[in-house]
Amino acid sequence: MGQEIAERYQNVVAKIEAAKQRRTTVPKEAAVTLVAVTKNHDTTAMREAIAAGAADVGENRVQEAKTKFVEIGNCVTWHLIGHLQTNKVRQAVKFSDLIHSVDSLHLAEAINSEAARIDKVQDILVQVNLAKEESKSGIYKEDLFASLQAINALPNLRLRGLMCMAPNYEDVELCRPLFREMYKIFQDVQDLDLPTSNIDTLSMGMTHDYEIAVEEGANMVRVGTAIFGPRQY
Ligand SMILES: *Cc1c(COP(=O)(O)O)cnc(C)c1O
Repeated sequence: MGQEIAERYQNVVAKIEAAKQRRTTVPKEAAVTLVAVTKNHDTTAMREAIAAGAADVGENRVQEAKTKFVEIGNCVTWHLIGHLQTNKVRQAVKFSDLIHSVDSLHLAEAINSEAARIDKVQDILVQVNLAKEESKSGIYKEDLFASLQAINALPNLRLRGLMCMAPNYEDVELCRPLFREMYKIFQDVQDLDLPTSNIDTLSMGMTHDYEIAVEEGANMVRVGTAIFGPRQY
């Protein structure tokens, strides 16, 4: 099993590199951070990925992440990628290096207050619901710039960029125009006057679509199944 995780991890790394070489509209050399999504996998699997080179891990539930954090500690960068409820913010801010799933000003304010309380500046991404799927959270693009301005004004947050999830299309090529549009929005956000922010991260792409996301300009991908195999719920 360990060997398998290591091989799969290396395989994903190689596919990301190959996807970078296929870029046409984005600088080929721009680096991509691979976040190994460990949700529903135990710390044994997690350690195997870390041994294979994983430096970034992603979890979508605060309680599960916290339990693993106690065991694994700070040797990796912790990404919180799932929808965050305000009553979990206190726990989340304790261990999260980057929260990808900020989907409302209300949540941003709650994170800001908690970060201020423990004297931390919390790195965050704003989740965009580009396809306006009811099943997904995220800010609509019409509301995005106003939300980013408001978030930029919160002193204990450092806005790092955007996150999105594409719909689960059977034909994965259908994700391409969405990722391309996200990259354009990301560039527009970099041109906004957001003095306390540092817009350098575009988190998009999961197991079924990360290669296309990288081709279209993702510089962070969140990959679980391709590394750890299917999740048992
Ligand atoms: C689970 C999850 C992923 C990883 O999904 P895979 O298809 O297993 O790669 C990525 N992003 C988010 C927000 C997730 O919840």
